[in-house]
Amino acid sequence: MKYKIESDKCIACGACVPGCPFGAIVAEGGKYQINSSVCSGCGICVNFCPAGAIVEDVPATKVVDITPPANPAQAA
Ligand code: SF4
Ligand code: SF4
Repeated sequence: MKYKIESDKCIACGACVPGCPFGAIVAEGGKYQINSSVCSGCGICVNFCPAGAIVEDVPATKVVDITPPANPAQAA
């Protein structure tokens, strides 16, 4: 599981940067981001963030319509 920084919660304090043993957290243009290609998913950085801005990057789930097709015998 990868982690991501929610930009609306991040207060740009930078405390997470030294907390990542892999150097995956970078500052760009005053915003902090996790480089997903470097992140190992260890979760250590979560403990360094005072704003609760680092969360698991859960892949979006696909909504599947499981409604059964209408039964023509009951439609009439
Ligand atoms: S989960 Fe681990 S590797 Fe990924 S950014 Fe946080 S501390 Fe770094
Ligand atoms: S520790 Fe949290 S609030 Fe501070 S820069 Fe990192 S993600 Fe943003």
